[in-house]
Amino acid sequence: MVKILILGGGFGGIRCALDLERRLSIGLANNEIEITLLDKNGHHLFVPALYEVASAYNLEKDPFAVKIKKTICIPYADIFERKKINYIQAEIAGVDLENKKIITRGGNELAYDYLVFALGSQTTNFGIPGVAEYAYQFKGLDDALMINEKINSLLEEISKGKRTVPVRVLIVGAGLTGIELGAEISCCMKNIARKCRLGPGCTMITLFEAGPKILPMASEQERKIIKDRLTRLNIMIMENSQIEEVELDRVKLKDGRTIHGDMIVWTAGIEANRALREIKNLKLDAKGKIAVNENLTAEGYQNVFAIGDNAGFIDTTVHKPVPAMAFVAGAEGKIAAQNISNMIKNKPFKPYRPFYDLWVAPVGGKFSLAHLWWGISIKGFWGWIVRELVDLKYLLSILPIKKAIRIFWEETTVFTKND
Ligand SMILES: Cc1cc2nc3c(=O)[nH]c(=O)nc-3n(C[C@H](O)[C@H](O)[C@H](O)COP(=O)(O)OP(=O)(O)OC[C@H]3O[C@@H](n4cnc5c(N)ncnc54)[C@H](O)[C@@H]3O)c2cc1C
Repeated sequence: MVKILILGGGFGGIRCALDLERRLSIGLANNEIEITLLDKNGHHLFVPALYEVASAYNLEKDPFAVKIKKTICIPYADIFERKKINYIQAEIAGVDLENKKIITRGGNELAYDYLVFALGSQTTNFGIPGVAEYAYQFKGLDDALMINEKINSLLEEISKGKRTVPVRVLIVGAGLTGIELGAEISCCMKNIARKCRLGPGCTMITLFEAGPKILPMASEQERKIIKDRLTRLNIMIMENSQIEEVELDRVKLKDGRTIHGDMIVWTAGIEANRALREIKNLKLDAKGKIAVNENLTAEGYQNVFAIGDNAGFIDTTVHKPVPAMAFVAGAEGKIAAQNISNMIKNKPFKPYRPFYDLWVAPVGGKFSLAHLWWGISIKGFWGWIVRELVDLKYLLSILPIKKAIRIFWEETTVFTKND
């Protein structure tokens, strides 16, 4: 039997598993092939909606965040229902590439013929002192819930007279993640302030960008639209502002300035999953990602693939690594599935040709900027509609139609309460 093992059930891993199941249906039906996906969690996390969790309003009516978790945590049991894909919940402790097996944290071993690395990334603090100790991270579900709790408690302290206004939120990193989080927190705070009978201007949000301008991939016009919107939401953008140190209630900038805050959130950087560094003979690039060939196989191993945030794929047209994005991970998952299927069927590899000049920046409430093909961008409410359609299309691509629509509906109703 040919054993295919996928490590990680994020955007890349799921796409790869579902495409393999479709391509290899005959081998699976005859029990000649086995597809197994392994993840430490029992659900697929819909990370692009994480900012909505961090800023969700009225969560006290949902004390264990059950409703909100249901909107962004999609059980693997639902995704793989009626599919010939095995799912194992386990954390990977090691990979033995020479003997083609993986070892789980519980000590179990799993053999494979084909292996796909799709373990995603984690935040990095670039060695800046104080980030790990004092800044809120923003990568997983627990991070988002902790930010939500903090925002609510800060404003409640004000309403009880235990704290003075304004509440100052400092967000380090003005990429898409920092911007969508800052904008949505601003909307959330407006609602809480109204509930706590606080006046306008009770919150101040600052976004720090180390580079000379935010969103370097955006055109000047697109950047202006986003900046104008952020300004309207009372968010200050500080470009050319590299952080040197983070303390409990302040950040120190490289140029000597110190900015005080009641809450500091770190969205400034990610690095490939650190578990990759422990794997013997796995060749990594300077950023810790797996060095891959154009067919997404790991250098030196024809049967080992890397996709998504794990793959160090260089776009040769611009000589830069492809960005860490959900739909890039999905596209790479597709190619890895096709190439494994081709190998099994003795067909040639298909090279991966990256395309990623598409993005949507949610900028608070029902306002997004969607950068589409041929440089066309759509802003405001219609940009938000594009974002909603992108989310729906994704859910439909991984779930049976009824379940996809139910999650989409729940997500839309829960997350628009701030808008
Ligand atoms: C806050 C935030 C917002 C984002 N918003 C967007 C957006 O709007 N649009 C966009 O295109 N991209 C967005 N991204 C980027 C996008 O989420 C990632 O690029 C994408 O998730 C990468 O997919 P992946 O399959 O490589 O990894 P992931 O989707 O991260 O999946 C990795 C999987 O591996 C599992 N795993 C990790 N370690 C282990 C282990 N040791 N053992 C077992 N399992 C393990 C995890 O549980 C997870 O399920 C966002 C990222 C963040 C952090």
